[in-house]
Amino acid sequence: MTDAGGRPYRAIPGPSVVPDAVLRAMHRAAPNIYEGEIVDLTAGLIPDLKRVARTEGDVAIYIANGHGAWEAALANTVAPGERVLVVATGRFGHGWAEIAQARGLEVELIDCGTRTPADPARVEAALRADTDGRIKAVMATHVDTASSLRNDIAGLRHAIDATGGHPALLMADCIASLGCDRFEMDDWGADVAVAASQKGLMLPPGLGFVFFNDRAASARARLSVVSKYWDWVPRAAPERFYQYFGGTAPTHHLYGLRAALDIIHAEGVEAVWDRHERLAHAIWAACEAWGQGGALRLNIADPAHRSRAVTALALNPPDATRLRGWMEQHTGVTLGIGLGMESAADPGADGAFRIGHMGHVNAHMVLGVLGAMEAGMQALDIVHGSGALAAAAGVIAAP
Ligand SMILES: *Cc1c(COP(=O)(O)O)cnc(C)c1O
Repeated sequence: MTDAGGRPYRAIPGPSVVPDAVLRAMHRAAPNIYEGEIVDLTAGLIPDLKRVARTEGDVAIYIANGHGAWEAALANTVAPGERVLVVATGRFGHGWAEIAQARGLEVELIDCGTRTPADPARVEAALRADTDGRIKAVMATHVDTASSLRNDIAGLRHAIDATGGHPALLMADCIASLGCDRFEMDDWGADVAVAASQKGLMLPPGLGFVFFNDRAASARARLSVVSKYWDWVPRAAPERFYQYFGGTAPTHHLYGLRAALDIIHAEGVEAVWDRHERLAHAIWAACEAWGQGGALRLNIADPAHRSRAVTALALNPPDATRLRGWMEQHTGVTLGIGLGMESAADPGADGAFRIGHMGHVNAHMVLGVLGAMEAGMQALDIVHGSGALAAAAGVIAAP
């Protein structure tokens, strides 16, 4: 017996739910790529993307997923043999470091684990020790989607500045956070911000974005070789970039992006952040109540360091795997697997799981996920505290 009929809900931390308006915009015959609607539409994407990242800088659009955008950011700023400082707070921080290493960069890693934020003091100390200025960039995830840890990007900028002028660029991976968590590229002093289409931007995977300011542009100008495909210079020229996808433009994704940006700006970027904030608080309230009488734990203890786009959770193994399976089969809700949470006690990470709440998400979707979790824990005899759904409803009901 199952109650999973009806529309399924993949509450995984990307790819996220694609709005009907975006699907409709993409459901069309191939357009003429040389003139007309698609060419006209594309120029308008640039200013509207920059408004989401809160930057007066430039943005380059790539046919790529987040891994491609990671690669693009490095290809334009750091030469093989040069050094970067990576602050990792989960699987994705390590992933970006691996991309850097494979490009022939020397990677200095500050591993802050999966439960505590990037430590600005350690960044400052590493830069102070770099007396000959070999470190060209500090790389950090804004939100690490594996741990659901949210880092203080402005705090990292202060750490760099506190050295009294270390010239390293600050590069932020905003793939999970853009369009979900407050991100102020210019005010916070990020020189480069990396994003992708399939999280807060509510599209299928396939577009990567690299935002960059003048300091980053100067770093690009210093490089003697940049791969033609990843070069951000032609892509960032609004009147020319349409021709520079390195081949055929991603036509349907561009239509979809237009629709997604229209949705974001109709709601307002600040209102989008507020919605994610409130929905995240509803999830946390429920999880805290469950945890009062059972094993469920939020991976990030301090709400100040939690993402508003994804929540990583732990149960006693293998209960996370059991719960995800039951929920998918019986309620039509799919939760995310634990990523990078393997340990000696739990080699398969069967105690770890994640709720994605990024992008096109509203209160009924979140309350539905929480209700399905409650049902799953009851059905599987996973011991849990009471009052979780009332606590979540209380957050939504509050004025
Ligand atoms: C999803 C994600 C990535 C990887 O993006 P892909 O599109 O899967 O390559 C990198 N960093 C963060 C923070 C992410 O959330």
